[in-house]
Amino acid sequence: MHIGVPREVVPGETRVALTPNEVRSLTAEGHQIVVEHGAGDRAGHPDNEYLDAGALSGDRANAFNADIVLQVHLVGAGNRASNSDLDQDLKLTRRSTVLAGLANPLSHPEPVRRLAEHSVTTFSLDLLPRITRAQAMDVLSSQSSIAGYRAALIAAERVDKMLPMMTTAAGSIAPARVLVLGAGVAGLQSIATTRRLGAVVHAYDIRAAAREQVESVGGTFVDLPLDTSSAEGSGGYAQAQQEEFYARQREVLGNEVAAADIVIATAQVPGKPAPILITEDMVRAMRPGSVIVDAAAAQGGNCALSVADETIERFSVSIIAPTNLPAGAAAHASRLYARNIANFTRHLLGDDGPQLTADDPIIRDTLLTREGQVVHAGLRALLG
Ligand code: NAD
Repeated sequence: MHIGVPREVVPGETRVALTPNEVRSLTAEGHQIVVEHGAGDRAGHPDNEYLDAGALSGDRANAFNADIVLQVHLVGAGNRASNSDLDQDLKLTRRSTVLAGLANPLSHPEPVRRLAEHSVTTFSLDLLPRITRAQAMDVLSSQSSIAGYRAALIAAERVDKMLPMMTTAAGSIAPARVLVLGAGVAGLQSIATTRRLGAVVHAYDIRAAAREQVESVGGTFVDLPLDTSSAEGSGGYAQAQQEEFYARQREVLGNEVAAADIVIATAQVPGKPAPILITEDMVRAMRPGSVIVDAAAAQGGNCALSVADETIERFSVSIIAPTNLPAGAAAHASRLYARNIANFTRHLLGDDGPQLTADDPIIRDTLLTREGQVVHAGLRALLG
């Protein structure tokens, strides 16, 4: 198969879909790979590394003139790339081409229509089912882990305290107090990272199963008087709640937020805007010098004051809302992403070329468009 790897064009993106290591493996398996000039530069992989690994280097048209195109952002769909970026790339793409990457389609369904109009076959890896068989392809987990780690470091760097307890000749310093909201993959990594830095870490998630996971990485689970019996939906994800639930949650979270030097907010519900868990009044009640890192900013954010991709100060509290945390660790984020997408490519190709069977949950859940149609059931319902 001819596999193309274009340079990412979404502003602020530093990752690359395939690293030279994965190129080497896929080439050894008989595939021919074309990498757009400079695609790996920002992830620490100059063109010569790809050439050494057996790839060809080409322009954007060469990278899109392939049987399979692997990207971080699927032709920029749903990720703030302009419509013209998407259209220009689609003009370079053959109708028979398979494209795979992240499209965030449940939050940004419209560009998927255009992918269908162009008759390309597309897969969005952010829809992979969280089943054991798909773990080696699970880009959400690999990238969320990095996001959680980065969020912790950004917060630690910004807050006006040190995180560990210290005993010095000038007296003792108490450890900083961290509150993590949402204890999925990113939140657990934020807990583990701030714990390693010496902070006292509290965390809350609406899924009951999260308690044990929070404790296993050294956090203290916060008990809130909320009825969370309907909190867990399918696939281990949280279920969206009624606004009254969130209003009550904000009320009972108030003291926890006010007591924290750092709040790292990672609470998300797939395909929905992130729930607002921190209001302006809650920020006002925080200690001056404290920090909120809103790691849910790409889905609208958990803090009502967050401004995507900006750091603002309100009531002397820093509110940082990065929408692409993995891009801050481009080398490792690319390495894990590349391994995931290479495994997905192997799964897709099987032994006899693409197997687009709906019996396979990995294909069924990730396949967006095929033969001019939006085929993903959830998206069809969204697009009407
Ligand atoms: P996510 O990014 O969709 O959400 C992050 C977290 O926010 C979730 O834990 C969710 O419960 C929580 N949340 C939502 N609303 C909240 C609220 N109002 N208050 C507090 N927290 C709230 O989730 P994710 O990190 O992708 O993980 C989802 C699930 O998938 C988890 O159960 C995780 O353990 C599981 N998972 C399974 C596998 C697997 O292979 N089996 C792999 C990775 C993750």
